[in-house]
Amino acid sequence: MMKCFFAFCFISLQILCGLNLFAQQAERAFSKTLLLMGSKFEITAVSADEGLAWRAIESAIGEIQQIEKSISSWDPHSQTSKVNRFAGISAVKVDSALFYLIYRSKKISQLTGGAFDISFASIDKLWQFDGSMQKLPDSMQVAASVAKINWQHIQLQADSLSVFLVEKGMRIGFGAIGKGYAAMRAKALMQSMGITSGLVNAGGDLIAWGHRPQGTPWSIGIADPENPAQIFAQLDIHDQAVVTSGTYEKFVEFGGKRYAHIIDPRTGWPVQELKSLTIICPDAELADALATAVFVLGPEEGMRLINQLKGISCLMVTSQNDILQSQGLQLKTRNPKPETRNPKPETQNPKPKTQNP
Ligand code: ADP
Ligand code: MG
Repeated sequence: MMKCFFAFCFISLQILCGLNLFAQQAERAFSKTLLLMGSKFEITAVSADEGLAWRAIESAIGEIQQIEKSISSWDPHSQTSKVNRFAGISAVKVDSALFYLIYRSKKISQLTGGAFDISFASIDKLWQFDGSMQKLPDSMQVAASVAKINWQHIQLQADSLSVFLVEKGMRIGFGAIGKGYAAMRAKALMQSMGITSGLVNAGGDLIAWGHRPQGTPWSIGIADPENPAQIFAQLDIHDQAVVTSGTYEKFVEFGGKRYAHIIDPRTGWPVQELKSLTIICPDAELADALATAVFVLGPEEGMRLINQLKGISCLMVTSQNDILQSQGLQLKTRNPKPETRNPKPETQNPKPKTQNP
């Protein structure tokens, strides 16, 4: 009888060990989708340890909520709002994370000749994309607000971690970099907890690391600007960010013309030359900021900049539906030219025939 008991225990132990071994090999993807920073976020952890995966996801959510509290320019209690309130009055001490986010933002302004500028927010009250705008802003008002946009007037004091906006009425806002930044911070935290593969999709700005459960790469679809519910290009990535900005996201229309949410800091008016732009590079924060900057620079200047930057690629769809890719990028795309997908009369196509194969 005793022998039998031992044999049973031995077999049970073997089964348990076997199960444990199996569990260690069988990685699964655990995901949570929720609203953060006003956008739909999806956070995915790949792990054989379900408990660890959920702890990492919850910690990432906590981290993003903290970031939102600090960088939101709509929350009157945020550090950013305090910096804005004290514009032209005095410097404001902030925490080091916000200080260095502003520092990096200024570096990107320098790199892009001011096309990306967090002080664009001095004008953002004039452009509302929530349906409340009844008419185009007055060009005098636009000119007065543009005068306040100048990243060089954001003064940083590293020893005291303080920020001073030199002019009264100046404001900063992180609409073009905040989600990429939050995605990077969430990824770093999850990695530090032992999540070696995962994905953070911050409202379409995403970073993926490692691989999918069966070791296959992450497969990312890029939305068709003509029909954002459809994918028009797809790419496989391991450790990359893929960030898309598009005029189909937030816009208003007056007189049949679309005015979208990316503003040229030099003019105060929304940019018109591109419909969609995707940046692919290892850093989601940089990709987010560059997506906005290249939109402002336009196809020629923007492409020239991207082709000079090592490890950064881009895919553009112009307002004429031409698809342009940076050197070395050869994504297969569905042709978004409206006349090919959905025949329209010749007169509605303003592009010369020669450029339109
Ligand atoms: P989203 O990913 O939410 O569509 P983007 O990354 O495309 O946002 O950036 C657009 C947002 O960035 C705008 O809603 C605005 O808040 C801000 N923004 C607009 N123009 C600029 C600019 N030239 N420089 C910096 N930020 C800008
Ligand atoms: Mg951006």
